[in-house]
Amino acid sequence: MNEKRKKLIENNIEKINKDIHIHSKTPEVVKLVVVTKFAELEDVEILYELGLRDYGENKVQKIKEKKEYFENKKNDIKWNFIGNLQKNKVKYIAEDICLIHSINKLSLASEIEKQGKKYNRVIKGLIEINISNEEGKEGYILEEFLEDIPEYLKMENLKIVGLMAMAPFTSDDEIIRTVFSKMKKLLEELNCRFFKGELVELSMGMSNDYKIALEEGATIIRVGTKIFEEEKWEK
Ligand SMILES: *Cc1c(COP(=O)(O)O)cnc(C)c1O
Repeated sequence: MNEKRKKLIENNIEKINKDIHIHSKTPEVVKLVVVTKFAELEDVEILYELGLRDYGENKVQKIKEKKEYFENKKNDIKWNFIGNLQKNKVKYIAEDICLIHSINKLSLASEIEKQGKKYNRVIKGLIEINISNEEGKEGYILEEFLEDIPEYLKMENLKIVGLMAMAPFTSDDEIIRTVFSKMKKLLEELNCRFFKGELVELSMGMSNDYKIALEEGATIIRVGTKIFEEEKWEK
């Protein structure tokens, strides 16, 4: 194992954990999902040694490769799917995916429900919302999700446990903050009106904006770059 590399990753994670305590009002419920989509297997080994278990990937194939690499000895890893998920690929992850962050249409959700039934398990999912109505962006337009909610409430093998969002492409922190804050309000409103408090997770915040996300109520942050790179990060 490359000790220097391990030290770097360890330091970066320590900083993020500190930030969680500084910036979140509820640090005890916040989970760090390490985004391993660009990480070398050696780096994932290091993460594992450091005790991290929640990994995020945006390609079905990548999860499969990493799982094969870690075969059996490390079957306590919790895989999070964070990318655009094609319907026909759900079957490859349905057996043991921990959380799907990126549910953005009913047809995808129905397939997850179907695969969950097949494997006799309840798959947890988040609804990805395109809250700033950006064109070309993944995620539900809010009005469309509202129309689909009755269908979601009927599902038994897909359980929606929260919402996910990506910040708009801007370097203006105040715009980002407004978007995250809207997501928090939306979560509360949906909980009151439809979900009876079952929406407990708010997945938002990446390397560049996780501090703002924590301040606005994120319970899951998805961080990649900042964990694996030398720091040039302090804003
Ligand atoms: C890549 C990715 C991340 C991590 O981004 P970084 O800027 O590397 O921290 C988080 N969420 C999603 C959906 C991603 O695709």
